Amino acid sequence: MFTPVLQIRNLSKTFVNHEKPVLDGLNLTIQKGEFFSLLGPSGCGKTTLLRMIAGFEHQDQGEIILDGVPLSRDSSPRERPFNIVFQKYALFPHMSVFDNIAFGLRAKKVPETQVKTQVHEMLQLTKLVGFESRLPTTLSGGQAQRVAVARALVNKPRILLLDEPLSALDLKMRAHMQKEIRDLQQQLGLTFIYVTHDQEEAFALSDRIAVMNEGRIEQVDQPLALYDEPKSLFVARFVGNITEIPTQQITESEGPFVQILSHGLQLKGKPQKIQKTQKNAELANMAIIRPERIDLEIGREVPPYYNRLKGKVVRSVFRGTYVEIEIQISDGLRLQALIPPHEVEKNKIKEGDLIPLCFDPEDTIVFMGDQI
Ligand code: ATP
Repeated sequence: MFTPVLQIRNLSKTFVNHEKPVLDGLNLTIQKGEFFSLLGPSGCGKTTLLRMIAGFEHQDQGEIILDGVPLSRDSSPRERPFNIVFQKYALFPHMSVFDNIAFGLRAKKVPETQVKTQVHEMLQLTKLVGFESRLPTTLSGGQAQRVAVARALVNKPRILLLDEPLSALDLKMRAHMQKEIRDLQQQLGLTFIYVTHDQEEAFALSDRIAVMNEGRIEQVDQPLALYDEPKSLFVARFVGNITEIPTQQITESEGPFVQILSHGLQLKGKPQKIQKTQKNAELANMAIIRPERIDLEIGREVPPYYNRLKGKVVRSVFRGTYVEIEIQISDGLRLQALIPPHEVEKNKIKEGDLIPLCFDPEDTIVFMGDQI
């Protein structure tokens, strides 16, 4: 059963001297206990939204509703039951790990015996036992970020807000910390709102993801749905790789599919209606296919309704788990396919070869305005 914990209603904000709003009538509902990520390109307003929830910024319009009760617009971060973990750890450099974690409790005049118990609980939870007397400067990036998380969690926030907390870490530490953060969230059953511009990170961590674009939400969905059923070309482009197939004509076809004409080719695809506005006019009438959904047709039973093409290999790059192949289909159309290395080897595929390809119309998404 889903219970909304945080509702964001029609939130807008324009910074002084900015022409365009940074948040533009944004709506969002976050469920209790979910790991929710805000994902989007640099400058789309993710951090501003997080800071607004925390109380560091104030909206021009709209409401932030916690457990059904609107937060007072001007209430300060201290008055809100949230805690935020920043990209830079923001630890007190002259204080030990223990004192850093204890800081919030001591500020609230919690009795020292209780401080000790709660800090120890956090040290255990964040795997920092043994580090209590260390100074932040002697810690690795991962350890410092664990202290920051422990310091934020010790106050038992209603929601933990995290603003790109792993972006300063190297790749390996980052992957390790992703697991720790996810485990911690599941262990505590707490609601996490996580800002990132890294789609793989959002996929690895989140129950649901909101993709943001220019101060608005483009789509909110579970990671797989976001990947498989993007509701706009913006989301399809932002999440994973795609080949774009401009369509010159779209007509009805049998079953759930539409027929598209692209550079003289007839293909079938799944229609995804988009509201055609002046802003996105060029985004309609575009079909997409993900490179890993394109197969070599050699030695394979292909269902009759599949899309089938032939093209010339113009580039082939070995990437370890797959071979990235670029295929020129016609003058205006070049596809990218990811083919398992053993298939490339077995069929002796090399640059210059003409190869047959196939893909499911189910995986071919056709973004279209309301022209049909
Ligand atoms: P990034 O991933 O780069 O952090 P973001 O999606 O988190 O990007 P924001 O930090 O929310 O984006 O910034 C959105 C826009 O608002 C940017 O153009 C930024 O320059 C502007 N902005 C953010 N904070 C302020 C501020 N305090 N005053 C003026 N402009 C600001």
